[in-house]
Amino acid sequence: METDTITAISTPSGEGAIAIVRLSGPEAISIVDKLFQGKSLNDVDSHTIHYGKIMDPTTDEVAEEVMVSVMRAPKTFTREDVVEVNCHGGMVAVNRVLEIILSQGARLAEPGEFTKRAFLHGRIDLSQAEAVMDLIRAKTDKAMSVALKQMDGRLSALIQQLRQELLETVAHVEVNIDYPEYDDVEEMSHEMMQKKTKQVRAKIEDLLQVAKQGKILREGIGTAIIGRPNVGKSSLMNTLVQENKAIVTEIPGTTRDIIEEYVNVRGVPLRLVDTAGIRDTEDIVEKIGVERSRQVLKESDLILFVLNYNEALTDEDIKLFEAVQGLEYIVIINKTDLEQKLDLEKVRKLANNRPVVTTSLIEEEGVNELESAIAQSFFEGDIDMGDLTYVSNVRHIQLLKQAAQALDDAMIGLESEMPLDIVQIDVTRSWEFLGEIIGDTASDSLIDQLFSQFCLGK
Ligand code: GDP
Ligand code: ZN
Repeated sequence: METDTITAISTPSGEGAIAIVRLSGPEAISIVDKLFQGKSLNDVDSHTIHYGKIMDPTTDEVAEEVMVSVMRAPKTFTREDVVEVNCHGGMVAVNRVLEIILSQGARLAEPGEFTKRAFLHGRIDLSQAEAVMDLIRAKTDKAMSVALKQMDGRLSALIQQLRQELLETVAHVEVNIDYPEYDDVEEMSHEMMQKKTKQVRAKIEDLLQVAKQGKILREGIGTAIIGRPNVGKSSLMNTLVQENKAIVTEIPGTTRDIIEEYVNVRGVPLRLVDTAGIRDTEDIVEKIGVERSRQVLKESDLILFVLNYNEALTDEDIKLFEAVQGLEYIVIINKTDLEQKLDLEKVRKLANNRPVVTTSLIEEEGVNELESAIAQSFFEGDIDMGDLTYVSNVRHIQLLKQAAQALDDAMIGLESEMPLDIVQIDVTRSWEFLGEIIGDTASDSLIDQLFSQFCLGK
């Protein structure tokens, strides 16, 4: 059990934003009270907020005007005493407050240490802890609700249910072996075990199916705009950015924060990564050939392929059609305000049932249709986000796959009539993999590694 008090700035850095210094631990309240000019924080009720000043003890000057929230254990995120000092003066002021607090005996929190404490104190399980990290990184409302749902424990509940089913199966076999004289316990048959294994396997498969979408929501849809020079790629980019809130995000937890551009199209986060050769590719095929460009294009989740309504199809257009075949793409026929020279029939045929949208970006026509097509190509209409529990974490996906593999092994054993006490070894492995998702069988080093990925102050 931790005994020291940790502190960190818990809001992302940004000009003008309110910044919070958070403390957690037995000394949290007394440390801030020593520095606080205002009410005696030792005496205030739990979960109350107080206006006052943080004094610099070395100079006796006011360091910052603040609002201080006091939250006493155990009804806090970490289940320890928690104090949050809200500073209004931007990053310089908040850093000063942090320094002063550190000088009074609090220790700077390691990345993810607040969440780690919540986990260690049984406040949340591992998948919920990871959801906190996702929440911090969530780019759009939809990604946010996925993270919230997971934090709610829906994934945990599902995993627990699957584990329970596996455990019962294993226990049943154990009983049969250890107490063969118990006539009232039905003998577990190969058929029964097969049925159970199949059921759980199918549920894991369902989770893996939605995992892909969850990952996309969390990370954004890697989007490439391609087409010959002058068709309107840059115009398309500008339109998307102007029509939709463009979000520039810093991803915390990396040594050097990566800046990416996000455009939120009807709740679908397009990630416009500035990767050479992907974004606004003028003549990708010309430069690197069909095969290579296909390789590059494969790395994006969505391709916006722009054609010119005012020009007949060229060889290069045809090559681009070849390069995107089988990938997720939308054809955009731009410049419909000009005279038609493009053979639409031919384009539709080449597009092979992929969506074809016509636009005049200069007259702002067709943009709505384009946005619908983008949203639709990922959600295939309106999916009800409320009904899905998403698995949105690489580690979860990996473990789910391992759990599924272990069940596949079990099923092979069952089909070849292996003894059940051998088959159950695989079933137990699957149970263990699932357990790692919620932290039941996770080793200490795994836990340390996980929490160190979290950004500071959470
Ligand atoms: P890119 O080379 O593919 O990036 O094309 P740009 O976006 O730079 O556009 C090339 C030219 O086409 C610019 O002069 C744009 O103003 C013009 N343009 C873009 N969209 C339209 C459109 O819908 N209609 C017309 N008439 N011109 C357009
Ligand atoms: Zn351009």
